[in-house]
Parts: sequence; structure tokens; C-alpha cells
Amino acid sequence: MSASKNTQISRRGFLKRVGTGTAAAFGLAMLPQQALSGYASGDSESHGPTWSLLIDLTRCTGCDSCALACKASNELPDADVVPSALDADTYTFVEEHQVTKADGTTVTRYVKRQCMHCLDASCVSACPAAAMHNSGEGPVIYRADRCLGCRYCQVACPFEIPRFDWDNGLTPKISKCWMCFEGLQEGQLPACVEACPTGALRFGRRDDLLAQAHAQIASNPARYIDHVYGENEVGGTSVLYLSDVPFEQLGFVANLPDTAPAQETEKIMSKLPTVIAGMTALMAGSAFITHRKPAEPEDIVPEALVVKEEE
Ligand code: SF4
Ligand code: SF4
Repeated sequence: MSASKNTQISRRGFLKRVGTGTAAAFGLAMLPQQALSGYASGDSESHGPTWSLLIDLTRCTGCDSCALACKASNELPDADVVPSALDADTYTFVEEHQVTKADGTTVTRYVKRQCMHCLDASCVSACPAAAMHNSGEGPVIYRADRCLGCRYCQVACPFEIPRFDWDNGLTPKISKCWMCFEGLQEGQLPACVEACPTGALRFGRRDDLLAQAHAQIASNPARYIDHVYGENEVGGTSVLYLSDVPFEQLGFVANLPDTAPAQETEKIMSKLPTVIAGMTALMAGSAFITHRKPAEPEDIVPEALVVKEEE
């Protein structure tokens, strides 16, 4: 068996792998539907096996099966309408791009967009209510029952993924892909992977998929550019892409740092006690100077200039 076949997880293989001791493999219990309120107490990251998605853009035909399967699986509105953008009712969609390659030929490429499931997610570190949560298994999940509606996650996300439910005035929520996390607990593949007829979407352990992606690039350098998008961007993501054209030509955010913005935030936050202590000392000193009793002339005038009283 080739390395490629060995690391790619078929539906049957995935079921077999997670079927025995699923909860132990994920370190998690079965979860209720999307709100995930039953998972609310699980704040510690389990750091178990990290599940990922590898998207081979050279294999995508733009059939939209993945996007429609996502809608149906998550019981989202307009399940039979092909979505054209992320919104409160759309977790994934497929973009079309006309690209001129290095040899001058123009080709059409399709890009499936969804949450990148960052390993060190900015949305998680920005959320003051822990509504955005890193499962530690790959998926970054959203817990609607904790959400304050502040939308800090939207601002923090480097990929502009979370969408706010503007139409719901009373209980607005954030929407984004959750990698069909509940289904994973039951040994199912994400709905999009299950639906893809071309093999453009593969699901498995991140390390395996990365090894597989690099093996594909090495064995066919004419087909792929030497870049697995998501391997290092913002500290790495659990969604990885292979392509035959530069990613920036496909609308991907280019030149992202290899460190997660979340780490920079945490560095700043870790320094806050020192900064606050310093500011407190500064303010205390300032208050002391401002409020101390008025200085006597001899306190501020050189002794030589003080007019001494006649003895
Ligand atoms: S892509 Fe955005 S929403 Fe998804 S995990 Fe990363 S920061 Fe969070
Ligand atoms: S189902 Fe597969 S081939 Fe069809 S649009 Fe989605 S990723 Fe592309």
C-alpha cells in the first residue's frame, strides 16, 4: 500500500478507527446539537488527535455538492439553494476564480471556503465568554449558549469567517463551520467530505494529511505549487489546501505570519499585570507629589539664596 493510500482515511476506515472507543479517542462525550451546551463545562483542551481537512484545489470541479451537503446536514435554511457567500445560514460555499497561469493559459479554479479551524485560534482568544472554543481535536466550535453577541470573534479572525445573525434581533448568534463535530463523535465524516465526488476533500489526522500533501507535491511538482496553505499560516490550521496556482491568485490571504495573532495577544495580556503595577506606582507617585503639603521656601530655594532673618 502506498503512503498516500495508507494515510488517506476512507469512510469505512474512519468508522473503524473511531468506532472503537470513540469517546476515548476524542477525549470527549457525545454532544448535543450545535449549541453544544452539554460541552460547556469542558473548558480544558484535550490535545488529543487533531483531525483535519485537506482540500486539493486541482481536483475540485465546482459541483457544489459539499456546500449543499453542509446545508442539509446542519439543517440550515434554503438547503436546496447553492450558496454564494458565507452568511448566518451558510457554513461553507465554493468560489469560482479565473486564473492566468505562468504559461499564459487561463483556467477556472474553485475554492471551497469555510472556517480554517486554526490550531491557536484568534476567535477563541478574543472571545470573553469562551463561546468560541478550541476542542483540542481540530474543530474550533461555537457554543451559542455562552455567546454575548459582542462579535469580537469576527474582528479577530484573520480569515474573516464568523458571520453574525443580523436577522435575529432577540437571540442573534455567530455562524461558522464546526467540522460536523457532533458527527465526528459518532464516527462520521464531515458532511462535505462525504459528499465530494472527486476526492478533492480528504479527512484525517493533520500530520498524516500534511505528509500526504508534501508527498503529492514531491511526486508531481508540475501539478502543484510547493506550498501547503494552512501548514504554517497563523501558527497552522486544521484545514489545508493544495493548489497548482499561487494562493494569492485565488483570493487567499497572503503573507500571514507563522505565529498566531492569539500568541501576540497573550504576550500582551501576560505583561498587563506588570504594566498595571507600573502605572499604579506612577499614579501613586504622581498623587503623592500633587497632594503633598505646599513646599516651604527652603525646600525649593537653594540655601545660599534664602534671605536669612537678621540675627
Ligand atoms: S478561521 Fe477564524 S473563525 Fe475559524 S478558527 Fe480561525 S480565527 Fe476562528
Ligand atoms: S464537492 Fe468536491 S468537487 Fe464538488 S465543489 Fe465541493 S470540493 Fe469541489
